[in-house]
Amino acid sequence: MRPSGAKPSHTQRGKGGAPLSTTVRIKVDRDRCQGHARCAALAPELFRLDELGNAHEIGDGTVPEALVDKAWLAKANCPELAIEVTET
Ligand code: SF4
Repeated sequence: MRPSGAKPSHTQRGKGGAPLSTTVRIKVDRDRCQGHARCAALAPELFRLDELGNAHEIGDGTVPEALVDKAWLAKANCPELAIEVTET
């Protein structure tokens, strides 16, 4: 597990040093989310709040490369550890 707040290296290298693209996704654990709304405040492009104030990832959770830092920032600032960020 990555230390909280640590920023991962986004560019991986394949054979010959060519960059490999990775897909970053976010997912909110609905059972953990308590509606603090920090994620939506930090990354409104990635999270929506429902009528109860609980967060949901937008769309299928795929994070555009330009917003990857915001995804990790939101994860690091969720007090309920409800945000999962995966790289594939
Ligand atoms: S910061 Fe965490 S607990 Fe708060 S709304 Fe976002 S996902 Fe839910």
